[in-house]
Amino acid sequence: MYMLKKLFCLVITAVLCTAAFAQSPKFKVLALYTTTVESDHVDFAKDAIQYFTRLAAKRGFAFDTTTNWKNVNDDNLKNYQLIIWLDDFPQNEVQRAAFVKYMEHGGGWLGFHVAGYNDKDTKWPWFLSFLGSGVFYNNSWPPLPAKLIVDDRKHAVTQDIPASFISPINEWYGWRPSPRLNKDVKVLVTLDPKNYPLGKKDILRSGDIPVVWTNTKYNMLYINMGHGDQIFTSDTQNKLFENAVMWLGRKK
Ligand code: ZN
Repeated sequence: MYMLKKLFCLVITAVLCTAAFAQSPKFKVLALYTTTVESDHVDFAKDAIQYFTRLAAKRGFAFDTTTNWKNVNDDNLKNYQLIIWLDDFPQNEVQRAAFVKYMEHGGGWLGFHVAGYNDKDTKWPWFLSFLGSGVFYNNSWPPLPAKLIVDDRKHAVTQDIPASFISPINEWYGWRPSPRLNKDVKVLVTLDPKNYPLGKKDILRSGDIPVVWTNTKYNMLYINMGHGDQIFTSDTQNKLFENAVMWLGRKK
């Protein structure tokens, strides 16, 4: 009887321990999006939320979402190791300032598609430098799939990703100058020049067009994919997204 009791206690302890571990997320992620923007971008954001919600359950991180960009403030951001911009960006100087402070103190950022958009009217020099100095230059239209080349297959973000793959239908952006020319930028994935001319109405014809990169001075990653409702239809690309979140979330 004593042995049985002891065994029972051990089993209970093990169950409690497992439950405790299961309940404490590895890290916390906040995704921000907007429902009043271009419908293809809203579609992407909604698909992304479904994808990352499933991923959070599988990989054990906490995942919150909001359409209220006022949540980009010091008090709220301190609860998160990673924030994701799903096709939008801060709406005013107050939110910009909170984001700068968060990133300068080791916060994590994953930006998709429009998150990196900037032009002469953006007037946010810090963000341009953070992104790697590339200003939006041109785009492909209509959205099309494209072949991508993985520049560095040893990086955590490109683990188990083949040397090249077909990325589903997306609107592709070109940048001037190419972020690759910035010494702090590490390009991980690039649009294969064999795609050129890419597009019909708006055509990408030439040039070096990185699509996934990190500014090594920050815990950040930019991903150009993020237009329309086909982005999460590739297992290969989904794996890259998974790697990205796990890398950014765990990095100290
Ligand atoms: Zn777009």
